[in-house]
Amino acid sequence: MGHIDVRNAIGSSYHDAVSGLRIDDIGPLDGTVVATLPRSDAADVARAVEAARAAQPSWAALSLFERANGLDRLADTMEAAADELAHLEALDTGKPWDVARHVDIDRCIRNFRFFAAFGRDQAPELFRMDDATNHVIRKPIGIVGLISPWNLPLYLLTWKVAPALLMGNAVIAKPSELTPLTAHRFSELVREAGLDGGLVNVLHGFGPEVGQALVEHPAVEAISFTGGTATGRIVAATAAPMFKKLSLELGGKNATVVLDDADIDAVLHGVVRSGFLNSGQICLCGSRVLVPSTMMAAFLPRFVDAVQRFPIGPVISEAHRSKVEGYLQLAVEEGGTVLTGGERGDGTGFHLSPAVVAGLSPTSRCATEEIFGPVVTVHPYSTEEEALDIANGTEYGLAGSVWTSDAERGRRFAERMDTGMAWVNTWLHRDLRVPFGGVKQSGVGREGGMWSLGFFSEAVNICVADD
Ligand code: NAD
Repeated sequence: MGHIDVRNAIGSSYHDAVSGLRIDDIGPLDGTVVATLPRSDAADVARAVEAARAAQPSWAALSLFERANGLDRLADTMEAAADELAHLEALDTGKPWDVARHVDIDRCIRNFRFFAAFGRDQAPELFRMDDATNHVIRKPIGIVGLISPWNLPLYLLTWKVAPALLMGNAVIAKPSELTPLTAHRFSELVREAGLDGGLVNVLHGFGPEVGQALVEHPAVEAISFTGGTATGRIVAATAAPMFKKLSLELGGKNATVVLDDADIDAVLHGVVRSGFLNSGQICLCGSRVLVPSTMMAAFLPRFVDAVQRFPIGPVISEAHRSKVEGYLQLAVEEGGTVLTGGERGDGTGFHLSPAVVAGLSPTSRCATEEIFGPVVTVHPYSTEEEALDIANGTEYGLAGSVWTSDAERGRRFAERMDTGMAWVNTWLHRDLRVPFGGVKQSGVGREGGMWSLGFFSEAVNICVADD
């Protein structure tokens, strides 16, 4: 495929940025320019707001069932284009086509099918009193802004678009400037599915420019943001004084806790996969592995061996690779030993082999700051209480996993972890009905199932006295 010309999707047509400026999109597999995209700003946000404003009322006037049918039609068009979407995602992120097709794109389609079915299943929310009935109805918010990161580009964007549309809103989406391709193709599929273009506007460009302008625009009444904690803080500081609804899905430094009754051979694959899938660039990756001191001698060589056999992939950009390498240098300065990994390989892309670091204090910077790359630190512990202290000892609280031969013991341990989500003897196992989100500096609010419907609507109570 040649060079791709990404444009902003506003209303029923495509536009360059008002500024006329463009940005290069570099493919991480070989470092070449795969596309260029508009460098949008507040002027483009203003246009998108107009388009969204024009489209939203008639969409909101449809029944929930009719909107759910719209979501299913969109899922159909995505299914027909799934191989192509996977190709674009692989090109932009460097992940293998198979992973893009069967992890990312399958899930994008499922996001629409799930929310369509979930919407149709909603029972009326009625609360009877002795002398009155409360009718809880859910009104659309209006125009919502959706800001997403580069690691699971269309997967995380559609996770927001589907419930936002279901609840009767129009959206303005701002995908990551590092991975604009699938959002661009998706905007075409929305229109092919017969939805009014103004319902899904997609603006491209840098976060501090077009992302910031989207958060600042007074007509955009809710912001759902997924990205880093530092950016989330800026988004919150901008949106809070305007009393916007805000959902923040932020960074993590998740612990993978191996309990002393775990069968090493049985858990090894899961522990390695949770550390290194997508080159460690999933917010839920377990980047700190906690192992009982008594098991360390048996665990570590097998872990390192399994990591060495894990496929090497690129990270998202040259700058990100330098950041990850900087953390590996810091690990050595902090007294750690890099047991394997951290090598670039000979290609032209941004490859980095999976790295394991031992010997670091659990309070060191490398063991508490989010690296978001193929780096796992390993820490010994002597009691379950100590494991819990280490697991809970960062500013983050997104997710974690526990590995044990006793699922009930694992569940009890998981309950004491300060995280929004925890897995026992599994990882990245997702039921779309359950709450998704973090505590502490990993986020504010929850998405998923009922929580998404709640976020993307205004719940209104109407109390009707009996005759
Ligand atoms: P990022 O914070 O740099 O960027 C995220 C998005 O915000 C991008 O689209 C960016 O352009 C935009 N942005 C940047 N500055 C902005 C501003 N001032 N106003 C509005 N928008 C702005 O994050 P990233 O590097 O793209 O993604 C990696 C981070 O995302 C990691 O920290 C990871 O943990 C986190 N993440 C969290 C989850 C979750 O569900 N909790 C999921 C995936 C990724």
